[in-house]
Amino acid sequence: MFSEETIFYSVLAFLWIVYIWESYLSSRQRHLCKTVTKVPEEVKEILDPESFEKARLYQLDKSNFGFWNGLFSQLETTIILLCGGIPLLWISAGRILNRIGYNQEYEITQSIVFTALAMVYSTVISLPWTVYSTFVLEEKHGFNKQTPGFFAKDQVKKFFLTLAIALPITAVLIYIIKVGGDYFFVYTWLFTFIVSLLLITVYADYIAPLFDKFTPLPEGELRSSIESMAESISFPLKKLFVVEGSKRSSHSNAYFYGFFKNKRIVLFDTLLETYSPLNKETTEVSKPIEVGKECDWSGKPNSTPNTAEKEDRSSEKKEKDHKKQGCNNEEVLAVLSHELGHWKLSHNLKNLIISQVNTFLCFMVFAFLMKRKELFFAFGFDTSPTIIGLVIIFQFIFSPYNEVLSFLMTALCRHFEFQADAFAKFLHRGGALRSALIKLNKDNLGFPVTDWLYSTWHYSHPPLLERLKAIEKTD
Ligand SMILES: [Zn+2]
Repeated sequence: MFSEETIFYSVLAFLWIVYIWESYLSSRQRHLCKTVTKVPEEVKEILDPESFEKARLYQLDKSNFGFWNGLFSQLETTIILLCGGIPLLWISAGRILNRIGYNQEYEITQSIVFTALAMVYSTVISLPWTVYSTFVLEEKHGFNKQTPGFFAKDQVKKFFLTLAIALPITAVLIYIIKVGGDYFFVYTWLFTFIVSLLLITVYADYIAPLFDKFTPLPEGELRSSIESMAESISFPLKKLFVVEGSKRSSHSNAYFYGFFKNKRIVLFDTLLETYSPLNKETTEVSKPIEVGKECDWSGKPNSTPNTAEKEDRSSEKKEKDHKKQGCNNEEVLAVLSHELGHWKLSHNLKNLIISQVNTFLCFMVFAFLMKRKELFFAFGFDTSPTIIGLVIIFQFIFSPYNEVLSFLMTALCRHFEFQADAFAKFLHRGGALRSALIKLNKDNLGFPVTDWLYSTWHYSHPPLLERLKAIEKTD
Protein backbone atom coordinates (compact mmCIF):
# COMPACT_ATOMS: atom_id res chain seq x y z
CA MET A 1 0.00 0.00 0.00
CA PHE A 2 2.65 2.48 1.14
CA SER A 3 6.34 2.08 0.62
CA GLU A 4 8.61 1.66 3.60
CA GLU A 5 10.18 5.05 3.00
CA THR A 6 6.80 6.77 2.85
CA ILE A 7 5.79 5.23 6.16
CA PHE A 8 9.05 6.03 7.89
CA TYR A 9 9.35 9.63 6.74
CA SER A 10 5.66 10.34 7.38
CA VAL A 11 6.12 9.21 10.97
CA LEU A 12 9.22 11.34 11.34
CA ALA A 13 7.56 14.36 9.70
CA PHE A 14 4.56 14.04 11.98
CA LEU A 15 6.78 13.93 15.08
CA TRP A 16 8.35 17.19 13.95
CA ILE A 17 5.01 18.82 13.16
CA VAL A 18 3.81 18.04 16.68
CA TYR A 19 7.07 19.28 18.10
CA ILE A 20 6.92 22.57 16.20
CA TRP A 21 3.30 23.07 17.17
CA GLU A 22 4.05 22.43 20.86
CA SER A 23 7.06 24.72 20.73
CA TYR A 24 4.98 27.43 19.15
CA LEU A 25 2.38 27.14 21.92
CA SER A 26 5.02 27.20 24.65
CA SER A 27 6.68 30.23 23.11
CA ARG A 28 3.37 32.09 23.26
CA GLN A 29 3.07 31.37 26.97
CA ARG A 30 6.74 32.16 27.54
CA HIS A 31 6.28 35.47 25.79
CA LEU A 32 3.57 36.38 28.31
CA CYS A 33 5.86 35.45 31.20
CA LYS A 34 8.55 37.68 29.82
CA THR A 35 6.43 40.68 28.99
CA VAL A 36 3.64 40.84 31.56
CA THR A 37 5.73 42.19 34.41
CA LYS A 38 3.05 44.36 36.01
CA VAL A 39 0.14 42.77 37.84
CA PRO A 40 -2.82 42.94 35.44
CA GLU A 41 -5.99 44.59 36.75
CA GLU A 42 -8.03 41.39 36.92
CA VAL A 43 -5.30 39.62 38.88
CA LYS A 44 -4.82 42.31 41.51
CA GLU A 45 -7.50 40.83 43.70
CA ILE A 46 -5.77 37.48 43.95
CA LEU A 47 -2.08 38.32 43.87
CA ASP A 48 0.18 40.96 45.36
CA PRO A 49 3.01 42.35 43.19
CA GLU A 50 5.73 40.45 45.04
CA SER A 51 4.04 37.06 44.67
CA PHE A 52 3.18 37.86 41.10
CA GLU A 53 6.82 38.44 40.33
CA LYS A 54 7.84 35.20 42.04
CA ALA A 55 5.25 33.27 40.12
CA ARG A 56 6.34 34.85 36.88
CA LEU A 57 9.98 33.91 37.42
CA TYR A 58 9.07 30.36 38.46
CA GLN A 59 6.92 29.92 35.37
CA LEU A 60 9.63 31.38 33.18
CA ASP A 61 12.28 29.03 34.58
CA LYS A 62 9.99 26.06 34.08
CA SER A 63 9.24 27.15 30.57
CA ASN A 64 12.92 27.48 29.70
CA PHE A 65 13.60 24.09 31.22
CA GLY A 66 10.74 22.67 29.15
CA PHE A 67 12.22 24.18 26.02
CA TRP A 68 15.62 22.51 26.44
CA ASN A 69 14.16 19.25 27.62
CA GLY A 70 11.75 19.18 24.69
CA LEU A 71 14.45 19.97 22.17
CA PHE A 72 16.68 17.27 23.60
CA SER A 73 13.99 14.57 23.45
CA GLN A 74 13.03 15.55 19.95
CA LEU A 75 16.59 15.29 18.68
CA GLU A 76 17.12 12.10 20.63
CA THR A 77 14.05 10.43 19.10
CA THR A 78 15.02 11.59 15.64
CA ILE A 79 18.53 10.20 15.99
CA ILE A 80 17.22 6.91 17.37
CA LEU A 81 14.87 6.52 14.42
CA LEU A 82 17.39 7.59 11.76
CA CYS A 83 20.18 5.41 13.14
CA GLY A 84 18.03 2.36 13.66
CA GLY A 85 18.18 2.48 17.44
CA ILE A 86 15.19 0.19 17.86
CA PRO A 87 16.57 -2.70 15.76
CA LEU A 88 19.89 -2.20 17.50
CA LEU A 89 18.31 -2.64 20.90
CA TRP A 90 16.43 -5.70 19.67
CA ILE A 91 19.63 -7.28 18.37
CA SER A 92 21.44 -6.49 21.61
CA ALA A 93 18.67 -8.22 23.54
CA GLY A 94 19.17 -11.25 21.29
CA ARG A 95 22.93 -11.25 21.88
CA ILE A 96 22.50 -11.15 25.62
CA LEU A 97 20.20 -14.16 25.37
CA ASN A 98 22.64 -16.01 23.15
CA ARG A 99 25.33 -15.50 25.70
CA ILE A 100 23.26 -17.17 28.38
CA GLY A 101 22.34 -20.03 26.10
CA TYR A 102 18.98 -19.08 24.60
CA ASN A 103 18.54 -18.67 20.88
CA GLN A 104 16.35 -16.18 19.10
CA GLU A 105 13.40 -18.52 18.96
CA TYR A 106 12.56 -17.46 22.46
CA GLU A 107 10.70 -14.37 21.33
CA ILE A 108 9.02 -13.65 24.63
CA THR A 109 12.29 -13.92 26.53
CA GLN A 110 13.98 -11.63 24.05
CA SER A 111 11.08 -9.19 24.38
CA ILE A 112 11.53 -9.12 28.14
CA VAL A 113 15.24 -8.38 27.81
CA PHE A 114 14.42 -5.75 25.16
CA THR A 115 11.89 -4.05 27.46
CA ALA A 116 14.32 -4.11 30.39
CA LEU A 117 17.09 -2.58 28.26
CA ALA A 118 14.73 0.10 27.00
CA MET A 119 13.75 0.94 30.56
CA VAL A 120 17.36 1.15 31.71
CA TYR A 121 18.13 3.41 28.79
CA SER A 122 15.22 5.77 29.34
CA THR A 123 15.90 5.97 33.08
CA VAL A 124 19.54 6.84 32.52
CA ILE A 125 18.82 9.38 29.81
CA SER A 126 16.14 11.17 31.82
CA LEU A 127 17.98 11.12 35.14
CA PRO A 128 20.02 14.32 34.65
CA TRP A 129 16.83 16.16 33.73
CA THR A 130 15.00 14.89 36.79
CA VAL A 131 17.93 15.80 39.01
CA TYR A 132 18.13 19.28 37.54
CA SER A 133 14.41 19.83 37.82
CA THR A 134 14.32 18.70 41.46
CA PHE A 135 17.53 20.10 42.87
CA VAL A 136 18.04 23.19 40.78
CA LEU A 137 14.73 24.41 39.46
CA GLU A 138 12.33 23.40 42.23
CA GLU A 139 14.98 24.07 44.85
CA LYS A 140 15.58 27.57 43.59
CA HIS A 141 11.91 28.42 43.94
CA GLY A 142 11.61 26.75 47.31
CA PHE A 143 9.54 23.71 46.43
CA ASN A 144 11.96 20.84 46.80
CA LYS A 145 11.91 18.99 50.12
CA GLN A 146 13.89 15.93 49.09
CA THR A 147 17.38 15.20 50.27
CA PRO A 148 19.73 13.59 47.73
CA GLY A 149 19.54 10.34 49.73
CA PHE A 150 15.77 10.31 49.74
CA PHE A 151 15.74 11.08 46.02
CA ALA A 152 18.20 8.30 45.17
CA LYS A 153 16.30 5.73 47.21
CA ASP A 154 13.08 6.85 45.60
CA GLN A 155 14.45 6.50 42.08
CA VAL A 156 15.86 3.04 42.73
CA LYS A 157 12.59 1.83 44.26
CA LYS A 158 10.62 3.28 41.39
CA PHE A 159 12.87 1.67 38.81
CA PHE A 160 12.71 -1.85 40.20
CA LEU A 161 9.03 -1.64 40.93
CA THR A 162 8.27 -0.58 37.38
CA LEU A 163 10.45 -3.39 36.11
CA ALA A 164 8.69 -5.91 38.35
CA ILE A 165 5.30 -4.79 37.08
CA ALA A 166 6.06 -4.12 33.42
CA LEU A 167 8.00 -7.25 32.53
CA PRO A 168 5.41 -9.89 33.46
CA ILE A 169 2.64 -7.82 31.88
CA THR A 170 4.62 -7.53 28.65
CA ALA A 171 5.29 -11.25 28.63
CA VAL A 172 1.64 -12.23 29.12
CA LEU A 173 0.46 -9.65 26.59
CA ILE A 174 2.77 -11.02 23.90
CA TYR A 175 1.74 -14.55 24.74
CA ILE A 176 -1.94 -13.66 24.34
CA ILE A 177 -1.31 -11.96 21.00
CA LYS A 178 0.58 -15.02 19.79
CA VAL A 179 -1.92 -17.67 20.81
CA GLY A 180 -5.12 -15.61 20.68
CA GLY A 181 -6.03 -16.30 17.05
CA ASP A 182 -7.98 -13.86 14.90
CA TYR A 183 -9.76 -12.27 17.83
CA PHE A 184 -6.76 -11.82 20.06
CA PHE A 185 -7.61 -8.15 20.47
CA VAL A 186 -10.64 -9.09 22.57
CA TYR A 187 -8.42 -11.04 24.96
CA THR A 188 -5.66 -8.43 25.07
CA TRP A 189 -8.22 -5.77 25.89
CA LEU A 190 -9.73 -7.97 28.61
CA PHE A 191 -6.28 -8.65 29.99
CA THR A 192 -5.26 -5.00 30.15
CA PHE A 193 -8.62 -4.14 31.69
CA ILE A 194 -8.18 -6.69 34.47
CA VAL A 195 -4.58 -5.63 35.03
CA SER A 196 -5.54 -1.98 35.37
CA LEU A 197 -8.30 -2.78 37.88
CA LEU A 198 -5.85 -4.93 39.78
CA LEU A 199 -3.21 -2.23 39.81
CA ILE A 200 -5.65 0.38 41.05
CA THR A 201 -6.61 -1.96 43.90
CA VAL A 202 -3.08 -2.97 44.81
CA TYR A 203 -1.61 0.49 44.37
CA ALA A 204 -3.24 2.07 47.38
CA ASP A 205 -2.53 -0.67 49.90
CA TYR A 206 0.78 -2.03 48.75
CA ILE A 207 2.54 0.30 46.34
CA ALA A 208 1.91 3.85 47.52
CA PRO A 209 2.99 3.00 51.12
CA LEU A 210 6.39 1.93 49.77
CA PHE A 211 7.01 5.54 48.87
CA ASP A 212 5.11 7.64 51.40
CA LYS A 213 3.80 7.36 54.90
CA PHE A 214 0.02 7.20 55.29
CA THR A 215 -1.60 7.76 58.66
CA PRO A 216 -5.29 7.96 59.56
CA LEU A 217 -6.48 11.53 60.04
CA PRO A 218 -6.70 12.00 63.81
CA GLU A 219 -10.08 12.39 65.50
CA GLY A 220 -11.12 15.98 65.71
CA GLU A 221 -13.14 18.69 64.12
CA LEU A 222 -11.79 18.25 60.62
CA ARG A 223 -12.31 14.51 60.65
CA SER A 224 -15.88 14.69 61.88
CA SER A 225 -16.77 17.45 59.41
CA ILE A 226 -15.41 15.40 56.54
CA GLU A 227 -17.28 12.33 57.72
CA SER A 228 -20.55 14.15 58.01
CA MET A 229 -20.11 15.80 54.63
CA ALA A 230 -19.44 12.38 53.07
CA GLU A 231 -22.50 10.99 54.78
CA SER A 232 -24.71 13.85 53.63
CA ILE A 233 -24.13 12.91 50.01
CA SER A 234 -23.95 9.13 50.66
CA PHE A 235 -20.27 8.88 49.82
CA PRO A 236 -19.17 5.47 51.15
CA LEU A 237 -16.11 6.71 53.04
CA LYS A 238 -14.21 3.81 54.56
CA LYS A 239 -10.88 5.35 55.43
CA LEU A 240 -9.42 8.79 55.77
CA PHE A 241 -5.66 9.24 55.50
CA VAL A 242 -3.08 11.95 55.70
CA VAL A 243 -0.02 11.33 53.58
CA GLU A 244 3.32 12.78 54.45
CA GLY A 245 3.87 14.63 51.20
CA SER A 246 5.98 17.26 52.90
CA LYS A 247 8.99 14.93 52.76
CA ARG A 248 8.86 15.09 49.00
CA SER A 249 7.84 18.59 48.07
CA SER A 250 5.63 21.31 49.33
CA HIS A 251 3.11 20.57 46.59
CA SER A 252 -0.16 19.49 48.07
CA ASN A 253 -3.00 17.34 47.02
CA ALA A 254 -6.27 15.70 47.93
CA TYR A 255 -7.85 12.75 46.24
CA PHE A 256 -10.12 9.79 46.73
CA TYR A 257 -9.97 6.29 45.33
CA GLY A 258 -11.37 2.80 45.73
CA PHE A 259 -14.14 0.73 44.21
CA PHE A 260 -17.80 0.60 45.05
CA LYS A 261 -18.48 0.81 48.76
CA ASN A 262 -14.87 0.99 49.74
CA LYS A 263 -13.77 4.56 49.20
CA ARG A 264 -10.84 6.25 50.84
CA ILE A 265 -9.86 9.89 50.95
CA VAL A 266 -6.23 10.97 51.11
CA LEU A 267 -5.15 14.44 52.16
CA PHE A 268 -1.61 15.69 51.80
CA ASP A 269 -0.26 17.07 55.04
CA THR A 270 0.84 20.11 53.06
CA LEU A 271 -2.79 20.85 52.23
CA LEU A 272 -3.73 21.23 55.88
CA GLU A 273 -2.84 24.45 57.60
CA THR A 274 -3.11 22.85 61.04
CA TYR A 275 -1.17 19.78 60.06
CA SER A 276 1.59 20.75 57.69
CA PRO A 277 5.06 20.30 59.21
CA LEU A 278 6.12 23.14 56.97
CA ASN A 279 4.09 25.50 59.08
CA LYS A 280 5.83 24.22 62.18
CA GLU A 281 9.13 25.14 60.59
CA THR A 282 7.60 28.48 59.82
CA THR A 283 6.58 29.32 63.35
CA GLU A 284 10.01 28.49 64.67
CA VAL A 285 12.07 30.39 62.18
CA SER A 286 10.10 33.30 61.14
CA LYS A 287 8.45 36.57 61.42
CA PRO A 288 4.87 35.69 60.66
CA ILE A 289 3.58 37.48 57.68
CA GLU A 290 -0.20 37.33 57.88
CA VAL A 291 -0.68 40.79 56.55
CA GLY A 292 -4.37 40.59 56.04
CA LYS A 293 -3.74 39.52 52.51
CA GLU A 294 -3.46 35.79 52.67
CA CYS A 295 -4.91 35.27 49.25
CA ASP A 296 -2.57 37.10 47.07
CA TRP A 297 -1.06 34.53 44.87
CA SER A 298 -1.78 33.34 41.40
CA GLY A 299 -3.22 30.23 39.94
CA LYS A 300 -1.78 27.88 37.52
CA PRO A 301 -3.95 24.91 36.70
CA ASN A 302 -2.51 21.49 36.59
CA SER A 303 -1.34 21.10 33.07
CA THR A 304 -0.67 17.40 32.88
CA PRO A 305 -3.35 15.80 30.76
CA ASN A 306 -3.73 13.16 33.39
CA THR A 307 -7.20 11.79 33.77
CA ALA A 308 -6.67 10.84 37.38
CA GLU A 309 -8.11 13.55 39.51
CA LYS A 310 -5.57 15.43 41.48
CA GLU A 311 -5.53 18.90 42.82
CA ASP A 312 -1.92 19.68 42.63
CA ARG A 313 -0.76 22.55 44.73
CA SER A 314 2.32 23.58 46.44
CA SER A 315 4.02 26.01 48.70
CA GLU A 316 7.34 27.53 49.30
CA LYS A 317 9.93 26.57 51.80
CA LYS A 318 12.67 29.01 51.06
CA GLU A 319 10.41 31.83 51.98
CA LYS A 320 9.81 30.28 55.34
CA ASP A 321 9.31 33.63 56.78
CA HIS A 322 6.69 34.38 54.31
CA LYS A 323 3.43 32.73 55.01
CA LYS A 324 1.53 29.80 56.30
CA GLN A 325 1.09 26.83 54.07
CA GLY A 326 -2.21 25.21 53.30
CA CYS A 327 -5.88 25.68 53.98
CA ASN A 328 -8.06 26.08 57.02
CA ASN A 329 -10.75 23.47 57.75
CA GLU A 330 -13.51 25.18 55.82
CA GLU A 331 -11.29 25.42 52.77
CA VAL A 332 -10.18 21.81 53.04
CA LEU A 333 -13.83 20.80 53.15
CA ALA A 334 -14.48 22.91 50.06
CA VAL A 335 -11.60 21.25 48.20
CA LEU A 336 -12.97 17.87 49.23
CA SER A 337 -16.50 18.77 48.19
CA HIS A 338 -15.06 19.48 44.75
CA GLU A 339 -13.41 16.04 44.77
CA LEU A 340 -16.64 14.39 45.89
CA GLY A 341 -18.32 16.21 43.02
CA HIS A 342 -16.15 14.18 40.67
CA TRP A 343 -17.47 11.07 42.35
CA LYS A 344 -21.11 12.13 42.48
CA LEU A 345 -21.06 13.02 38.79
CA SER A 346 -19.26 9.75 37.91
CA HIS A 347 -16.36 11.50 36.26
CA ASN A 348 -13.91 8.73 37.05
CA LEU A 349 -16.29 6.11 35.73
CA LYS A 350 -16.77 8.10 32.52
CA ASN A 351 -13.01 8.41 32.12
CA LEU A 352 -12.60 4.70 32.71
CA ILE A 353 -15.20 3.84 30.08
CA ILE A 354 -13.64 6.17 27.52
CA SER A 355 -10.20 4.73 28.13
CA GLN A 356 -11.46 1.16 27.86
CA VAL A 357 -13.29 1.82 24.61
CA ASN A 358 -10.15 3.48 23.34
CA THR A 359 -7.93 0.54 24.35
CA PHE A 360 -10.30 -1.87 22.66
CA LEU A 361 -10.34 0.10 19.42
CA CYS A 362 -6.58 0.48 19.46
CA PHE A 363 -6.02 -3.25 19.87
CA MET A 364 -8.51 -3.91 17.08
CA VAL A 365 -6.66 -1.65 14.66
CA PHE A 366 -3.39 -3.07 15.94
CA ALA A 367 -4.58 -6.57 15.02
CA PHE A 368 -5.09 -5.38 11.47
CA LEU A 369 -1.85 -3.41 11.18
CA MET A 370 0.26 -6.10 12.81
CA LYS A 371 -0.07 -8.13 9.61
CA ARG A 372 1.52 -5.41 7.46
CA LYS A 373 5.15 -6.40 7.08
CA GLU A 374 6.06 -3.05 5.51
CA LEU A 375 5.58 -1.37 8.89
CA PHE A 376 8.39 -3.49 10.29
CA PHE A 377 10.57 -2.96 7.22
CA ALA A 378 10.06 0.78 7.55
CA PHE A 379 11.64 0.71 11.01
CA GLY A 380 14.52 -1.48 9.98
CA PHE A 381 13.24 -4.97 10.81
CA ASP A 382 13.13 -7.93 8.48
CA THR A 383 11.26 -10.04 11.03
CA SER A 384 8.10 -9.00 12.83
CA PRO A 385 8.43 -9.52 16.59
CA THR A 386 5.22 -8.74 18.45
CA ILE A 387 6.83 -6.34 20.93
CA ILE A 388 8.26 -4.30 18.07
CA GLY A 389 4.81 -4.19 16.49
CA LEU A 390 3.44 -2.84 19.76
CA VAL A 391 6.12 -0.16 19.95
CA ILE A 392 5.88 0.91 16.32
CA ILE A 393 2.11 0.94 16.09
CA PHE A 394 1.14 2.29 19.51
CA GLN A 395 3.91 4.82 19.79
CA PHE A 396 4.44 6.00 16.23
CA ILE A 397 1.64 5.01 13.88
CA PHE A 398 -1.05 5.99 16.37
CA SER A 399 0.59 9.27 17.28
CA PRO A 400 -1.70 11.55 15.21
CA TYR A 401 -4.69 9.82 16.75
CA ASN A 402 -3.15 10.05 20.22
CA GLU A 403 -2.62 13.78 19.81
CA VAL A 404 -6.25 14.36 18.91
CA LEU A 405 -7.48 12.10 21.67
CA SER A 406 -5.35 13.76 24.29
CA PHE A 407 -6.62 17.17 23.22
CA LEU A 408 -10.22 16.01 23.52
CA MET A 409 -9.58 14.40 26.91
CA THR A 410 -7.99 17.59 28.18
CA ALA A 411 -11.05 19.55 27.09
CA LEU A 412 -13.35 17.02 28.72
CA CYS A 413 -11.32 17.18 31.90
CA ARG A 414 -11.71 20.96 32.07
CA HIS A 415 -15.44 20.52 31.62
CA PHE A 416 -15.47 18.08 34.55
CA GLU A 417 -13.56 20.60 36.67
CA PHE A 418 -16.24 23.22 36.15
CA GLN A 419 -18.89 20.65 37.01
CA ALA A 420 -17.11 19.63 40.21
CA ASP A 421 -16.75 23.28 41.22
CA ALA A 422 -20.45 23.75 40.62
CA PHE A 423 -21.10 20.74 42.82
CA ALA A 424 -19.07 22.32 45.63
CA LYS A 425 -21.23 25.41 45.22
CA PHE A 426 -24.31 23.28 45.37
CA LEU A 427 -23.07 22.11 48.79
CA HIS A 428 -22.80 25.78 49.76
CA ARG A 429 -19.04 25.73 49.73
CA GLY A 430 -18.47 28.11 46.84
CA GLY A 431 -17.00 30.87 48.97
CA ALA A 432 -14.54 28.61 50.76
CA LEU A 433 -13.61 26.93 47.49
CA ARG A 434 -12.85 30.30 46.02
CA SER A 435 -10.52 31.25 48.84
CA ALA A 436 -8.96 27.77 48.83
CA LEU A 437 -8.21 28.05 45.12
CA ILE A 438 -6.64 31.44 45.55
CA LYS A 439 -4.60 30.37 48.56
CA LEU A 440 -3.39 27.11 47.07
CA ASN A 441 -2.62 28.77 43.85
CA LYS A 442 -0.48 31.25 45.66
CA ASP A 443 1.18 28.47 47.67
CA ASN A 444 1.94 26.92 44.32
CA LEU A 445 3.38 29.99 42.62
CA GLY A 446 0.92 29.62 39.78
CA PHE A 447 1.13 32.28 37.12
CA PRO A 448 -2.41 33.53 36.47
CA VAL A 449 -1.76 35.06 33.06
CA THR A 450 -2.43 32.43 30.43
CA ASP A 451 -2.27 32.40 26.70
CA TRP A 452 -5.65 31.15 25.46
CA LEU A 453 -4.25 28.80 22.84
CA TYR A 454 -1.63 27.35 25.14
CA SER A 455 -4.12 26.73 27.92
CA THR A 456 -6.74 25.32 25.56
CA TRP A 457 -4.24 22.75 24.36
CA HIS A 458 -2.53 21.92 27.63
CA TYR A 459 -4.55 22.74 30.70
CA SER A 460 -6.50 19.89 32.17
CA HIS A 461 -7.77 22.36 34.76
CA PRO A 462 -9.27 25.67 33.67
CA PRO A 463 -7.18 28.79 34.32
CA LEU A 464 -7.75 30.15 37.81
CA LEU A 465 -9.50 33.33 36.75
CA GLU A 466 -11.99 31.37 34.67
CA ARG A 467 -12.68 29.05 37.54
CA LEU A 468 -13.22 31.85 39.99
CA LYS A 469 -15.52 33.60 37.56
CA ALA A 470 -17.54 30.45 37.02
CA ILE A 471 -17.90 29.87 40.76
CA GLU A 472 -19.21 33.38 41.19
CA LYS A 473 -21.60 32.95 38.35
CA THR A 474 -23.17 29.74 39.61
CA ASP A 475 -23.83 31.59 42.83
ZN1 LIG B 1 -11.09 18.45 40.09
